[in-house]
Amino acid sequence: MKFISKYKEHRLVLVPDRHINDQYGRRTLQKGITAQFSNNEFETEDPKMIELIRTNEWYGIDFKAVGDNQPVSEETKVKIAKENESAENTLTGCPYCPFNAKTQFGLRSHIRFAHKDKVGKVA
Ligand SMILES: [Zn+2]
Repeated sequence: MKFISKYKEHRLVLVPDRHINDQYGRRTLQKGITAQFSNNEFETEDPKMIELIRTNEWYGIDFKAVGDNQPVSEETKVKIAKENESAENTLTGCPYCPFNAKTQFGLRSHIRFAHKDKVGKVA
């Protein structure tokens, strides 16, 4: 399966390196798992690796499988919902000051009262 990242040489740490103590009490380094993108691409057929990439919190945001247009993780859905929410906020943001109304109606009342001079005659 091929993955595309928005970063050219993306080093994606799926499982970090860690130190473990073996049964003799010796400290050994257990290598983690890293996907190294090259020219925005990374290809693997290892099912464990594919699973790790697809369940990563940045999947669908920084990188995704070729041909996959569906964001999968819950975190991704939350992030996208937040982005939509902030886009909605700008719709009710006052053009004259940093005030942010909760509704279009609230914004109109705010402008009518706070910026009479700027909107001219009010119906
Ligand atoms: Zn205002």
